[in-house]
Amino acid sequence: MGAAAGADAPMPTVDLLVAGLGPGGCAAALAARAEGLSTLAVDARGAQATRSQLVLVRPGAQAALRQLGLPDITEGRRTTTIRHVENRLRAALQGQAPAPPTQPPPPAAAFELCWNTSVVQLETRGDRVQVTLQDEAGGATRQVQARHVIDAAGGRLESLGRPARKRAGPSHLVVTAEYDTPPWFEGIVGVRDNRSRDLYLLFPTWGRRGVIAYFDSPPGASCDQGSAAALAERFAAIAENLALGPPQQTALAIDVYQRALLKPNEDRVVPIGDAIGTVDVLLGAGMSTAIEDGVDAARRIAAAQRHTSSQRELAQTCALSADLFSRHRAGVHKGRLMLAVRPVLARAWPSAALPAVARDSVGPPPLLWPAVRFVFGRRPQAQ
Ligand SMILES: Cc1cc2nc3c(=O)[nH]c(=O)nc-3n(C[C@H](O)[C@H](O)[C@H](O)COP(=O)(O)OP(=O)(O)OC[C@H]3O[C@@H](n4cnc5c(N)ncnc54)[C@H](O)[C@@H]3O)c2cc1C
Repeated sequence: MGAAAGADAPMPTVDLLVAGLGPGGCAAALAARAEGLSTLAVDARGAQATRSQLVLVRPGAQAALRQLGLPDITEGRRTTTIRHVENRLRAALQGQAPAPPTQPPPPAAAFELCWNTSVVQLETRGDRVQVTLQDEAGGATRQVQARHVIDAAGGRLESLGRPARKRAGPSHLVVTAEYDTPPWFEGIVGVRDNRSRDLYLLFPTWGRRGVIAYFDSPPGASCDQGSAAALAERFAAIAENLALGPPQQTALAIDVYQRALLKPNEDRVVPIGDAIGTVDVLLGAGMSTAIEDGVDAARRIAAAQRHTSSQRELAQTCALSADLFSRHRAGVHKGRLMLAVRPVLARAWPSAALPAVARDSVGPPPLLWPAVRFVFGRRPQAQ
């Protein structure tokens, strides 16, 4: 594994190729290693995670990670950032495998991680998938065969001819950015604009080392380039009024509309996470679902590969894809519900006209902590 294939050299073969090392792909690669599958895991980006969205790690994802030897991914907090989760998972991938608490480890199989490496072609050939990889720095390509591929590329393999997800909800523009903690900040605050129906919230980041601003425009509103640019400008003006300083990343307005595959996959490429579909960000479940998918996919692929018949192996793979598809269907329905109750949630916050907002017009909603406990559950015990 890993050597460039010469003209006559046999193509390297692995049990599993994981395409994409976001939260879902990292969880899949960790589970595959724990299962003893020979694994090649690649990501188009570098090893350092940079995204600063605030995320919840839901109980299902916490439980899946615990089984992989990562008992406390949020280190005793309810929310964290996607960057923190990705970096913890990536550190686990790059270090020694944490011992799964319940089982003896299987015999070690080959495991290779490749950053700055993109999947640029995928072709199913009988009971193998032929994958072409490209080094993002030098442009060199190489080919690998895999018994299974986990597509954890967040939908980007659609451009290579994989089945495309379709729109499953209205447009919904959001902007997020991370800042150093301003001196006046003491905890979660927000404000709603009754006229534009925009919602602006500030959350402390992991360990209160900074704040994350989240700006949410009403779903269903126009979502062309002009409105995205206007929203990003309003976002910057609010940050200036609240003296937040420069953002740590460029703040872009993103349309987080829901999208989903129309049917489960029926080959040896198993999509997980955002590659199956995206749920609305208000639900705060996309990353957790990707993690649960990744662990389930790697385990069930390992179980399928124990079959001697390739037909039974494929049948089990299709059953896996169908189960993951159902999980996402349920997520899309919950996402729609969340969009429907957004006006009620927004009412919990103080109101003011945006973007001309002053520090004393942002504040916590009166029932903040009961509501946080209701939505997010109790704070996890630090291990
Ligand atoms: C603004 C915003 C706010 C959000 N807030 C929340 C939240 O509060 N809670 C929550 O749970 N979720 C949230 N999400 C959703 C969450 O970020 C995603 O659901 C989650 O990242 C999906 O994980 P994934 O592993 O499926 O895909 P991704 O995180 O998209 O990872 C895909 C990976 O594949 C790599 N890749 C792409 N193409 C290729 C290729 N050709 N070859 C190799 N690698 C490739 C990419 O570099 C990337 O690392 C939010 C999303 C947005 C946009």
